Amino acid sequence: MSAPVVTRIAPSPTGYMHIGTARTALFNWLFARARGGKFLLRVEDTDKQRSTPEATEAIYGGLRWLGLDWDGDAVSQADNADRHAEVAHQMLASGHAYRCYSSQDEIEAFREEARAAGRSTLFQSPWRDVPEADQPDAPFVVRLRAPRSGETVIADAVQGDVTFRNDQLDDMVLLRADGTPTYMLAVVVDDHDMGITHVIRGDDHLNNAARQAQIFDAMGWPQPVWAHIPLIHGADGKKLSKRHGATGVEEYAALGFPAAAMRNYLARLGWSHGDDEFFTDAQALEWFDLDGIGRAPARLDLKKLENISGQHLSAMADADIVAAAIDFAPRDGRPMPDADALLPAVPVVKEACKTLGQIIDRSRFALVTRPVEADEKAAKALDPVSRGILNELTPHLQTASWTRDALEGIVGQLAEEKGLGLGKLAAPLRAALAGRTATPSVFDMMLVLGREETLGRLGDAALEPGAQTS
Ligand code: GLU
Repeated sequence: MSAPVVTRIAPSPTGYMHIGTARTALFNWLFARARGGKFLLRVEDTDKQRSTPEATEAIYGGLRWLGLDWDGDAVSQADNADRHAEVAHQMLASGHAYRCYSSQDEIEAFREEARAAGRSTLFQSPWRDVPEADQPDAPFVVRLRAPRSGETVIADAVQGDVTFRNDQLDDMVLLRADGTPTYMLAVVVDDHDMGITHVIRGDDHLNNAARQAQIFDAMGWPQPVWAHIPLIHGADGKKLSKRHGATGVEEYAALGFPAAAMRNYLARLGWSHGDDEFFTDAQALEWFDLDGIGRAPARLDLKKLENISGQHLSAMADADIVAAAIDFAPRDGRPMPDADALLPAVPVVKEACKTLGQIIDRSRFALVTRPVEADEKAAKALDPVSRGILNELTPHLQTASWTRDALEGIVGQLAEEKGLGLGKLAAPLRAALAGRTATPSVFDMMLVLGREETLGRLGDAALEPGAQTS
């Protein structure tokens, strides 16, 4: 039986979570979860300046919002520095690494000379083959004794076999002169120690994979399965950057896309399952595989995201939409909507909405309290004649059974008696019930608000001049 799958997301704290990182996390999460495996989180926090508690929190927050739960505690790469150094020393002992005493100036001089002679400027340390007895008592870095001939082949699950000539790869530094590990060493040791079986990450790390593979080989550790996924591009085909608009996961949360929609959309960015655009988590878990990842960069398409978001809102349980709206409101700097008032409105508004902001806006009629303030257009719809009509409607509504059929019957009949189109009657009703002219259907609103509240609002609008002009 093959070993259980263990994947990881290994973000460096940057202060926010780029959606490329979020997508990488999602791919790793889907891959592990569908196989009963583990999905681990490692914070690559060796850059002391950038690795603030807030930056780490942004990583946790981004993953949590997306609903990507990780197994166990997050690993701090910085905490493992001693272990990284220990491995470098093991490599020294086994001869897979050596002490290099060349100064920065000497390395520069080597490069100058190579450049002048038209040779490769890759540094070749003169200390590679100096026996220990002849080594000075001076500061040194530890370098990998990398193979100088042959090839390093990354058998990549997405890119296919990618071949690197070993004479193009220098003896990379593993430990700096101050004894701190380099990034390349840290990643390999951590991936090994965490038992990572599949490294799924952006293809900007493909060159690193060649170097990392050499460290795995030097230690006699099996390499993980590599899967380097194409980066996300903007609509113009260029690498996604701030120029294209929102790049951070939290920005998408603040734009009002529910996390389920974001997962769906991010999964489709670079991965496909036939022509399926809209799918559930369960389907994504069932379908996701490395085979479905394309080699061409995916382009971010906000229109598509909006469409998928609309489909998810239609499909989501009302209570889940309310919870998502409550999470969303403060992100957008809105007042917190009243969950109890929002819940009954959600089923009548959700079909027409693509974002959580639209859900709240369209549910406004249920969130406002009496007296409902009419905006300018709505106030105009409440002219004296219209208010008179609302007054006439009231006694009928007092005795009606509160069903859609009955309400439609009453309003329809009054419209007929007055020789007015239903629209003419609906306008003051909308204005009275919601204070707006663009609202869900008047019958939906009446049913959500109930008899008492409906009559109260009609009464307010009919008695106190809604137009506030007379
Ligand atoms: N820390 C790297 C990054 O944020 C990822 C390293 C890796 O996945 O191996 O891009």
